[in-house]
Amino acid sequence: MSIDIIISRLKKRYHPGKFGSKDPFRALIATVLSQRTRDEVTDRASEKLFAKYGTPAALEHADVGDIEELIREVGFYRIKAPRIKEIARIINNDFKGKVPSDMETLLSLPGVGRKTANCTLVYGFGKDAVAVDTHVHRISNRLGLVKTKTPEETELKLRETLPRKHWKHINELLVRFGQDLCRPVGPKCDECPIIEMCPGREGR
Ligand code: SF4
Repeated sequence: MSIDIIISRLKKRYHPGKFGSKDPFRALIATVLSQRTRDEVTDRASEKLFAKYGTPAALEHADVGDIEELIREVGFYRIKAPRIKEIARIINNDFKGKVPSDMETLLSLPGVGRKTANCTLVYGFGKDAVAVDTHVHRISNRLGLVKTKTPEETELKLRETLPRKHWKHINELLVRFGQDLCRPVGPKCDECPIIEMCPGREGR
């Protein structure tokens, strides 16, 4: 089955990390910070934030201006600062300081959409979930795994067609592949390890 070959070749190239190894609270907040922001910027801002406010209790009581200062490199930091403070408050007060581990409850948190909830389930809890961002959406369509218009549709389609054993790997593998070779513009098809399986390759 070609999807098994695709996943195995991408794993060989990118050596994905261990899932569920991140603190669920940090996985959740870092994913909120990552919205419309490059990974390296998200990593820097998350590190600064968690060095000072690493738990829901600490973040709930933080000053919004101070949070803004710590995360000011990320996109929409003025919107995200009060939002993550509010998420911390809800987790602390309604869930005894523990991040909920089910999709429906995660989606009830402010600013948490399906991508953020799925990333939290994968990276924070090690659960089988399909986290679809722009890379996963674009590449799944290029490879012909799905034929969809939105990341939400892609998630639903992949949940139907992708073997469950691959669910939690698809995000990390396709994000790294999308940054490295299968870029939005000018993909490096001549270096691609799965070129023969790609109907969307350039220079056909
Ligand atoms: Fe992406 Fe090109 Fe590889 Fe297709 S052949 S998956 S477009 S890099």
